[in-house]
Amino acid sequence: MRRYILAGNWKMHLDAQASADLVKALIPSVKDSTDVDVVVGPVFTSIPAVVEAAQGTNIAVAAQNCYWEDSGAFTGEIAVPMLKAAGCAYCIVGHSERRQFFGETDEKINKKAQALYKHGLTPIVCCGELLEEREAGKTTQVVETQLRGCLKDLPADKVRTTVLAYEPVWAIGTGKVATPAQAQEVHATIRALLVELYGQDVADAVRIQYGGSVKADNVKELMGQTDIDGALVGGAALKPDSFAAIVNFQK
Ligand code: PEP
Repeated sequence: MRRYILAGNWKMHLDAQASADLVKALIPSVKDSTDVDVVVGPVFTSIPAVVEAAQGTNIAVAAQNCYWEDSGAFTGEIAVPMLKAAGCAYCIVGHSERRQFFGETDEKINKKAQALYKHGLTPIVCCGELLEEREAGKTTQVVETQLRGCLKDLPADKVRTTVLAYEPVWAIGTGKVATPAQAQEVHATIRALLVELYGQDVADAVRIQYGGSVKADNVKELMGQTDIDGALVGGAALKPDSFAAIVNFQK
């Protein structure tokens, strides 16, 4: 049995005060959902305030990006040991917005994942096709290529604990959600790829989130699919009530 993981990607929203306020408002509504993992992903400068506000609760903190070197002359970058010292347990890598606007490639994502493992953080590795790729019947090819590149040379025992997020780009921030059947089809393909690369045991352990316009009113049906093990949530994670309803989807 895989444990569901519901994560909020706050993108470039909410300063430190607003981030801490959101966590404080969230705590009472999600505290009884101890059978799922709850994660929030603030901007870098809000991480200390969020970690402090979430101390002693069931809410873990994710960064939205990292660099793969431990330190050095890399102006504007943040190293994984710094994220660890700040209290992050997870880091999102390869989000489509980073691929699209900041030149993130599968090779870079792979280096970031390696660095995260080296320091004991869990990567949330994102993948997903563009609308034109789906329409051209290339979804499987795109997602498989992304994942083969992102997971390259990672040992099976590391991959076992990785969180993958399938996020069709056409569904992110658009209000256009993949149907549960469409999402399940791709999740099953990803699971099959994991079987091929790492064997059934590892493939069965990896959690695969769906992301793309997840809301309180569609989360239950999505989570009901065999290979969907959680959600990566953008817009609906910015309000305590809507994110709590997603976290508490089983209640
Ligand atoms: C995301 O940012 O990963 C995302 C899925 O956004 P939204 O839920 O707003 O589509």
